[in-house]
Amino acid sequence: MSFPRKLILLGATGSIGKSSLRVIRKHPDKLKLIGISAYQKADELASIAREFGVQKVHLYEPPASQPELPSGSKLSTGAHALTELAGWNEADIVLVAVVGAAGLAPTLAALEAGKDVVLANKESLVVAGELVMETARRTGARILPADSEHNAVFQCLQGQPEKALDSLALTASGGPFRDWPIEDLNKATPEQAMRHPNWDMGPKITVDSATMANKGLELIEAKWLFDLPPEKLHVLIHPPSIVHAIVRFSDGCSFAQMSPPCMTFALQNALLFPERLSGVEQGLDLSSAMELSFSPPDLDRYPCLSLARHSLEQGGCAPLVYNAANEMAVDAFLSNRIGFGEISRMIETTLNLFDHRSVYALEDLLALDQEARSLTEHAISQVA
Ligand code: MG
Repeated sequence: MSFPRKLILLGATGSIGKSSLRVIRKHPDKLKLIGISAYQKADELASIAREFGVQKVHLYEPPASQPELPSGSKLSTGAHALTELAGWNEADIVLVAVVGAAGLAPTLAALEAGKDVVLANKESLVVAGELVMETARRTGARILPADSEHNAVFQCLQGQPEKALDSLALTASGGPFRDWPIEDLNKATPEQAMRHPNWDMGPKITVDSATMANKGLELIEAKWLFDLPPEKLHVLIHPPSIVHAIVRFSDGCSFAQMSPPCMTFALQNALLFPERLSGVEQGLDLSSAMELSFSPPDLDRYPCLSLARHSLEQGGCAPLVYNAANEMAVDAFLSNRIGFGEISRMIETTLNLFDHRSVYALEDLLALDQEARSLTEHAISQVA
């Protein structure tokens, strides 16, 4: 694919969106922003549109007053127009950084239109892995992982023989409660969960890092992206967050990818792949001491991680139910309706209500997602 690449950025005002804008500012001759979307931050989105001269601007929620857009720029609103924007023929590449299951339809629309997708939305693969991968295969669109761990695996695989991958480990910082006594975890507050030791991210994913549900979702994503069975997918606690993933090849040799814990590294790699140009942030200082330790997670401390693995092994719609229940439970935790320890209990309760048949069509997946959410909400209302 040639440069400049015409880029659509969905979820422009979130944490990943902001990091992506830094990459685009750094390489204006390589990346041309032609479409952006946000959920409801109209003024912030309009200011991005003015800075980059964006042609198509999308707000999920209709704004109270008309935002000040650059001349010639068009505003659309609502779910249908978001899907339309994702499949806009003018684009070369679509970065999906929408949070939650709302990212699924735009991801599919971009792949269906044959666009390369830089995927920062975990839920697309967790909710509809089979459908997403099948759509990409059918249209020849590429999925370039933007999550730091999956991007790390992707980088390690370049230039290696196909099928040489034996197994992999995604690393995790262990979150803010890594060293807390387990019996205190139930009392953890949203404020404490929000204090992530290394990464600066949005509220949902920060809580998911504290429970390690985030790593659970990433295991499920990795299964689809790299086509490995659950027993070949590992998680290692690595407090400094410098090694993002380790892959092991069939001859027993392992590669790891390292960079400071900042999202611009993975995003730039995905957006400019296969080019390597100067980065937004400084890379590692190779002249200073580095201490890199790895240990397997204690599953008693992180029940959300074992539930994710369990749902991965069950297959079918179990990962979808896991994700829906987790989103609802995290929301309830952030609004002080349930305790930290109840997040995993809500997920487990909801998972047990389903038989985890395989579901394939988008409308059936979305209906099941709704059902799982209302059953979780019911379970939450019993304890809240
Ligand atoms: Mg990650």
